[in-house]
Amino acid sequence: MAKKQFKAESKRLMDLMINSIYTHKEIFLREIISNASDAIDKLAYLSLTDDTVKTKRSDLRITVTPDKEARTLTVSDNGVGMTAAELEQNLGTIAKSGSLQFKADMEDSKDKSDIIGQFGVGFYSAFMVADEVTVITRRHGEDAAHCWKSSGADGYTITDCEKPEAGTAVIMRLKPDTDNEHYSEYLEANRLQTLIKKYSDYIRHPIRMEVEDYRQKEKPADAGDDYKPEWETVVEEKTINSMVPLWQRPRSKVKQEEYDQFYQEKFGDWQPPLATITTSSEGTVTFKALLFIPSNTPYDFYTREYEKGLQLYSSGVLIMDKCADLLPDCFRFVKGVADSPDFSLNISREMLQHDRQLKIIATALEKKIKNELAKLMKDDREKYEKFWAAFGRQLKFGVVDNYGAKKELLQDLLLFTTSKEGKLSSLAEYVERMPADQEHIYYVCADSADQAAHLPQVERIADKGWEILYLTEETDEFVMNALREVSGKQLKSVSDPDALPETDEEKAEQEKQAEEAKPVLDFVKETLGDRIKEARVSKILKTAPVCMTADGPMSLEMEKYFSRVEGSASPMGPMKAERVLELNPAAAPFAALKSALDSGDRDRAARYVEVLYHQALLIAGLPIEDPAAYTELVCSLMQ
Ligand code: ADP
Repeated sequence: MAKKQFKAESKRLMDLMINSIYTHKEIFLREIISNASDAIDKLAYLSLTDDTVKTKRSDLRITVTPDKEARTLTVSDNGVGMTAAELEQNLGTIAKSGSLQFKADMEDSKDKSDIIGQFGVGFYSAFMVADEVTVITRRHGEDAAHCWKSSGADGYTITDCEKPEAGTAVIMRLKPDTDNEHYSEYLEANRLQTLIKKYSDYIRHPIRMEVEDYRQKEKPADAGDDYKPEWETVVEEKTINSMVPLWQRPRSKVKQEEYDQFYQEKFGDWQPPLATITTSSEGTVTFKALLFIPSNTPYDFYTREYEKGLQLYSSGVLIMDKCADLLPDCFRFVKGVADSPDFSLNISREMLQHDRQLKIIATALEKKIKNELAKLMKDDREKYEKFWAAFGRQLKFGVVDNYGAKKELLQDLLLFTTSKEGKLSSLAEYVERMPADQEHIYYVCADSADQAAHLPQVERIADKGWEILYLTEETDEFVMNALREVSGKQLKSVSDPDALPETDEEKAEQEKQAEEAKPVLDFVKETLGDRIKEARVSKILKTAPVCMTADGPMSLEMEKYFSRVEGSASPMGPMKAERVLELNPAAAPFAALKSALDSGDRDRAARYVEVLYHQALLIAGLPIEDPAAYTELVCSLMQ
């Protein structure tokens, strides 16, 4: 019979499995059992609305059967089963995003053996231990059964066959033992029992296996005084796993490794979670939740493909795999499970969206996540900063999103680099350090902390010994605009003319200066034309001669941001800030400009203006239109 070919990436993954030298091949069992459990979940879910499901809840089970003679290990379930088309689709292609991630990482990784099995690699992992895999399956509600068979990457066959009840059996013919690999161990009941306890204990359906028990024979009624106890070996089918879902067990009774393993297996991460959160409530709504914060940003986190959501169970039955309404967007990185007996089991997805109980749980979870993060920040700063590196950007988006709807929730969780030792600081910590005479929280936007520290407009604030937030990310300024103030302190850009309090004398002095500088300023504007909106005597410079700022709602940083994201895409070109060239009359270059003008050398004065303008662009990190012309200009002044 003609073999069908695997889809290209399945074939690759399968090649990797077959030739794997990974040392923990045992995880294949966990993967196959987990699929069986999912299939039972699906049937249980179906039974809520479908009367034709006759299997009783108590009869649902997974059976593990080693057969030493045939050298096969079989994992069977009486779950939902697969149609021929589903078989083709599910076992011929990689469905799971985890597997795709795995594949991507695998291609990058130097040590290919190292990362197998840290992922939920799924069905194909059977090929780590088996040289032939047969899947016999019958979909619930259908009479026909189908048989999928493959002995490697060269393809598979699907044929019709018989199967008395719905469900699936995965029959793995184990590879021959070698000097290094003892595949026969997967035929030993003891070994299998240990593996099931180790990896699949929390599976909510019974995993049944025949195990040998060595026990004392019953004492015969007529036994005399000299009766010696006799022992016998009995073979008995037993449930191996404890079946209690992890989230139903008290936290104190669960080891962190168990949570880690559960998380990695269920959510296909190759690293343990950064934090584990458990919570429960009884009252208006009863629920339990087990949540995780991943250690790393998922590879697709900032793409459209990433779907947020928690698994939603009702009394142990999975009703939704990714319930998005349980998580606010700002915490979309959280993974986990929520279980509430209060949901009617056959609630439809559309109805669920409007469900009052769901909203109550979502609100409680939001608060809980926030509190746990705040606690982490306080108690384990190093870990929190790791979290921040992975998901801080998401929290910042969260502040800005929806007109700042979640800013109260999130503002305590934000971290920024500040001028103080270049360390990360929360806003509350900043406020705590503020001296009595400092009125505002100051920030400056720049491409890097180093650049921020050297910006001319920073000087007059820094000289007072006041701390400044260095905003180096695109979203930061939007965050400042959304927050406006924290603990009653206004957030002020150092470029804001009223960033520092001024006395009346200072104000009068400035007006005088501006008046005196007017002819120079007019000349500057005339020279630069539309390139600036205005030339102005600076209130924000201390010793530096010049800087560029912006009037109006659009700042220079925003201009840079928009030119990056929109670039030439917009027909009108990127949006531009209203640029203001600020000059410092107390600095030497201003005097030079003035004297050139006073002496009537307008050509020289115009060249000075160009130099100052370009300096301001450079310092602000804005592009120079014609660098060659600028260089020529500077050189001409040196002659
Ligand atoms: P995943 O389980 O992560 O989706 P797998 O490669 O392990 O990836 O399995 C692919 C698909 O095959 C599953 O999503 C499921 O639809 C189907 N499948 C696997 N095992 C079974 C089973 N025992 N019963 C029903 N369907 C199964």
